[in-house]
Amino acid sequence: MKAETYPFVARPLPYEYDALIPVLDAETLTFHHDRHYKTYVDNLNAALSDYPELQKMSLKELLISLDRLPEPVRTAVKNNGGGVYNHELYFDSMQSPAGQDPSGELAEAIDRDFGSYRQWKEQMKQAAVGKFGSGWAWLVADREGKLSICQTSNQDVPDLKEYTPLFLVDVWEHAYYLQYQNRRADYVEAWFGLINWRKAGKRYEERAV
Ligand code: MN
Repeated sequence: MKAETYPFVARPLPYEYDALIPVLDAETLTFHHDRHYKTYVDNLNAALSDYPELQKMSLKELLISLDRLPEPVRTAVKNNGGGVYNHELYFDSMQSPAGQDPSGELAEAIDRDFGSYRQWKEQMKQAAVGKFGSGWAWLVADREGKLSICQTSNQDVPDLKEYTPLFLVDVWEHAYYLQYQNRRADYVEAWFGLINWRKAGKRYEERAV
């Protein structure tokens, strides 16, 4: 499939707005997807509108080339391109709370690299709850398949040349404030029940090597 390029189009949610209840209510998800995410898409397109050479690049190409982009557009692409990338992966990494567990190669890698699912979850929770300010906590795989947890600030992405992101959790207040107010830890704990492990396992098996 050819990678999408400018003008980027907001992707619909891969489930209904009420599909993640009770973890995320429909109002939270509607604001998050229809307003916040959509704004990043619009602002990314606006930033690229005067740069025909950048309009041929995929989102990932833009994000791994930030240092080489024209200076006037670099920050806008970093913030809004990152915002698009991060939200698309976030929404696509969740599903109706079904109590699914990791399986297959990814489950084995979690045991190998973190000791156990329980230990992984504790570290992932620390990364998400402990992220100061707005940002994200990620589970990523390197080219050898080694897993690690990382945090990014604002709409920054990990090094996409070296790492394949498997999923991430949004800890900007807009992701949870309507439903959880300031209780980020409660949101993060509940979010674990939304992880789409089947898609994460597929991303792991298809990672760049
Ligand atoms: Mn968000």
